[in-house]
Amino acid sequence: MYKFTLNILSAAIALSVVAGAHAEDKELNIYSARHYQTDDALYGDFTKRTGIKINRIEADDNALLERLKTEGKNSPADIILMVDAARLWRAQIEGLFQPVKSKVLAARIPAHLQGNDAGQGPQWYGFSTRARVIVYNKTTVKPEDVATYEALAEPKNKGKVCTRSGSHPYMLSLIGSLVERDGEKATEEWARGMVSNFARPPRGGDTDQIHGVASGECGVALTNSYYYVRMMRSTKPEDRQAINKLGFVWPNQKTSGTHVNVAGGGVAKNAPHREAAVQFLEYLAGDSAQRNFSDGNNEWPAVPTVATHNPALDSLGKFKSEKLSIATIGKNQIVAQKILDRAGYK
Ligand code: FE
Repeated sequence: MYKFTLNILSAAIALSVVAGAHAEDKELNIYSARHYQTDDALYGDFTKRTGIKINRIEADDNALLERLKTEGKNSPADIILMVDAARLWRAQIEGLFQPVKSKVLAARIPAHLQGNDAGQGPQWYGFSTRARVIVYNKTTVKPEDVATYEALAEPKNKGKVCTRSGSHPYMLSLIGSLVERDGEKATEEWARGMVSNFARPPRGGDTDQIHGVASGECGVALTNSYYYVRMMRSTKPEDRQAINKLGFVWPNQKTSGTHVNVAGGGVAKNAPHREAAVQFLEYLAGDSAQRNFSDGNNEWPAVPTVATHNPALDSLGKFKSEKLSIATIGKNQIVAQKILDRAGYK
């Protein structure tokens, strides 16, 4: 009888220790490669709701990956946030995430926007989406000549095309999707066509390509959708002037659909605050965080039931998006890079 009571007592103590450990998760360490100012509101709101303080390390993706690898088992990282499937997949194959099973995330985030699930739960989740779109100069280019990604590589667009470096994740993912749809051989021909159509060697970021089109140096360019919408919402006179010169195309509407990518994240492999980390991922899938991605950074919520309140973004209308697993696109970046090297696409 005495022994029985003691066992109950020690079980109760053990339970309270476990509960105590969770309650002590009052901070969360986030390693983020997102580079969008509007994320401040997101983190502040999480702290207000949960009392969990967020420590942020922000750097570009390569620096973060190197840091995580160097820190190894001793890394204080709880959450890793990356933009683009190409980067999420790289972090995944480096073994930097741990699988997370969550009823909330499973119910909210569509399956094709989740990192691979080997039965233990996905390694990462996409929380917002963005499209890779085409912008053109209304004076020098006709929209029907630049209606698809494939058309940009056709001879009719010689001397008109601008892109950022082919090796940037935004381009690697797009090319990874072309490989999946059109095959390796056709994509290599596409890459060669792009190189011979360049108005200038690849340089700068997506916003630089938009400005290049507005100035007339480029006839047509590729950009992530949120950079274009950011310029639509800008009150700077030079941005207003630029946007008036531009036309906008949802690529591949009559064929495969527009390439859509994600920004997302997961729980770090050796997260010291796992409980709080899962809580944070679930918070990102909640209505208010989802709205922040669209209203703040001009992306779309990954959760299909969340409505946007962003007139500029909404004015672009609905479009047909590509239906490929985002994890497959991430994986294809290896073959995409080899194609670029062979085609001389820097
Ligand atoms: Fe970006």
